[in-house]
Formats: sequence, C-alpha cells, structure tokens
Amino acid sequence: MTRRLEPHPDVIVIGGGIIGATIAYVLARRGQRVTLIERETIGDGASAASAGIVSPLDQRQYPTELQQLLWRSLRSYPWLVGTLQEETGLSVGFQQWGTLLLAETEAEVAVLQELGQWLEERGFTAEWLDGPATREAEPLAPVHVQGGLLIEDGASVLVPQLVRAAIVGAQQRGVTVLEHTAVVELEVAGERVLAVQTARERLPTDAVVLAAGAWSGQLVAPLGVPLPTVPVKGQMALIDGSTRRPRHIVGAPGVTGYVVPRADGLVWVGTTVERGRWGTRPTAQGLWQCIDTARRLAPALLQEEIHAVGAGLRPGTADDLPILGRVPGWRNLWVAAGHFRLGVMLAPVTADILADALEKDSEDEIPARFSPRRFLDPPAES
Ligand SMILES: Cc1cc2nc3c(=O)[nH]c(=O)nc-3n(C[C@H](O)[C@H](O)[C@H](O)COP(=O)(O)OP(=O)(O)OC[C@H]3O[C@@H](n4cnc5c(N)ncnc54)[C@H](O)[C@@H]3O)c2cc1C
Repeated sequence: MTRRLEPHPDVIVIGGGIIGATIAYVLARRGQRVTLIERETIGDGASAASAGIVSPLDQRQYPTELQQLLWRSLRSYPWLVGTLQEETGLSVGFQQWGTLLLAETEAEVAVLQELGQWLEERGFTAEWLDGPATREAEPLAPVHVQGGLLIEDGASVLVPQLVRAAIVGAQQRGVTVLEHTAVVELEVAGERVLAVQTARERLPTDAVVLAAGAWSGQLVAPLGVPLPTVPVKGQMALIDGSTRRPRHIVGAPGVTGYVVPRADGLVWVGTTVERGRWGTRPTAQGLWQCIDTARRLAPALLQEEIHAVGAGLRPGTADDLPILGRVPGWRNLWVAAGHFRLGVMLAPVTADILADALEKDSEDEIPARFSPRRFLDPPAES
C-alpha cells in the first residue's frame, strides 16, 4: 500500500486560542499552507474565560505603541467578524453596547472627566453624565453613583464562537487542524526549526508561529531562549440576564473587572488578576471578588441565577506587553504571545502583522517594543 506524501506546510501554528486561530485564518487567506496544532480542545485556553470586551476602555497607562496597535485592531474588528460570519455562516455574537465607566467618588469624577477629554482628543466619542443621567442611561447602576463616562465604542464578542469561526474559516481555506495534539518538542538544526514533534508524529515545516499563550515560554526554553510568559489567572461568572441585563459594558476606576452584556443573553462578571497562578479551577475568594464587582457596578444582578463559573490563564509577560516577532537566534521561528488582558482585542492586528512579517521574512514593521529580543541579557538591537 502506498501513502500519498502531502507537501509539508509552509507554517505550523502552535496553539488554538484566539491568537493562533486568527493567525491561521489570516495566513490561509494569504495563500499559505498552514497546520494548526492544539493540545486540548480549540479555544479552551484563556480565550474560553474571556469577557470578550472590544472597547477602548482606559488605555492611558499603556505605551504609545500599544495604544496604536490596539486602535488599529479595534478598527479592523467589524471586518474580521463580518468576514468570518459570512464565510462560515457561524454567528460570533459581536454586538455594540457602548461602555459606561462609573464614578463612585468625587475623585473618580475628575479621573473620568479627564479620560473623556483624552479619548475625545483621539477621535473617540465620550460624554459625561451626572448621577441621575447615568442611572437613566443604565438603570442597573448603583443608586448613589456620582456620574458616568459614556464611551460610544464598546462591543462584546462571544470568544469561543469567534475562535471556532476562525478555525472553520481557516479549514475552509485548506488549513489542517490537529486538536488534542500536544507539541512536545521543536526539532532544530543550525538557525532553523526543521520540524515540530507532537506526541504522535514528526511534522516537517518551513516556519513555526508559537501562539501557545501562557505556555509559550515553556516550549522554547529547551532552545535556551528566554521568553518569560507567565500565567495570570482570571476568574469569572456568567449570570442569567433574561430578566435584567446591563445596557452597556460597565466598569469603574476603582474596580478591577467589568460587567459585560453578551449577545447570548448572559452577563459576564469578573474578574481577578492572579499573577503566577496555574490551574483553572475557580476559588471561593475569586468568585467572591467577581460577585463583589457585580455588586458595585450593577447590584440588582445579585438577584439573578448564576449560569456558570470559570477561570482562564491570561498570557502575561514581565512587562505586561505582548511578544511579537522572530524568536532571537532562529530564522523561521516566530512568536505571538503574552497578550495579557488584551488578547481578544489585539487578535486581528496581531494576525495581520505576523502574516506580513512571515510573507516578507522581516520584522521591520513590528514595533521593537514588542520584540522578544527585549528579554535577552543584554537586550539585543533589532
Ligand atoms: C477572565 C478573563 C477575561 C478576559 N477578558 C478579556 C477581554 O475582555 N478582552 C480582551 O481583549 N482580552 C481579555 N482577556 C485576555 C484574553 O482572553 C487573552 O489575552 C487571550 O485569550 C490569549 O489568547 P491566546 O490564544 O494567546 O492564549 P490561549 O487562549 O490560552 O491559547 C493558547 C493555546 O495554546 C495551547 N497550547 C499550549 N501549549 C501547547 C502545546 N505544547 N501544544 C499545542 N498547544 C498548546 C493551549 O492549550 C491553548 O489552547 C481575558 C482573559 C481572562 C482570563
């Protein structure tokens, strides 16, 4: 019996979260032969627990390069979800709600009014509402709210559905998807990765994109490359929103998390930010924090039933910035990881710039700030 030898892929993408799935889809659109490998079920990593917020929120603490990356990504979201829905027939629940940031104190009023001005200067539409107007816009807001900043932009997306749509869209364009298949080793020679070794087989390839979220660093550690990705556990609860549901994505300067309405009728509430914590079982303390977020932002939600609870491991980095570019010392090994709290928002732009870099075999257009070279000791010039 003969076995037809398939040509090996141009690119192997490791990781089937929002980042890997979007990269595989965009590479396939550009005519590349791609294989995506996911250790568990597609979309089961950090992406599964995500709130799916796609909104400018408060980005003032970010470096300019990250702000620009984010805004470019937000602008391309409608295109990505529209194209995927059209090509696959799958709904991803992308819905605009607007974002309402509540001021609980006089000091927060000043903080939010400044933020409104900052956003307006950058082309976003933001309106300051006093206490009664805030309650009128958002009847679930607490009675004693001092005011609120209403930002016109603010969508949520059902992330597992988005990941699934990207995978189906990729498969329709010829991408091979290996689920429940762990990459155990990268086989290298000279400055190149020759093949990816899974638990079952050896897969030769021309290039590799590492999009394994919080686990990315572990995969390149045997190559002697420092890629310090760390898990940052985030817990969440889904509350039944059939009786009452916020009209906006709601947050506040003094609150770590958000209350997020979703297209499927559920309300996402969370979260915790637990650095260095592996394991995705929710804890009593974590869930208490999620429920407390709901109490502060939309107290009436506490009367509703809990539909599900969960947790995910955000891919954090030492400086909380994503890692995008060629892995130092390896000509055909690329990384797209470390998106921390912004992976859903940054997925379209990440896929675009990685696809450009692979096509041109150059990372010149990726801001140096995101380069994996920054973790070398001393940091290398690009
Ligand atoms: C509670 C919470 C709320 C969030 N809310 C938002 C939000 O509102 N907006 C936003 O933009 N971001 C949000 N985030 C962050 C966002 O979810 C992450 O940044 C994003 O999901 C990271 O995607 P990823 O594909 O890099 O990682 P993951 O989704 O973790 O995917 C990585 C995948 O790689 C696989 N993998 C690992 N090792 C291997 C291996 N050896 N072989 C094969 N596969 C492997 C894993 O199984 C996993 O599926 C939130 C995160 C959490 C936890």
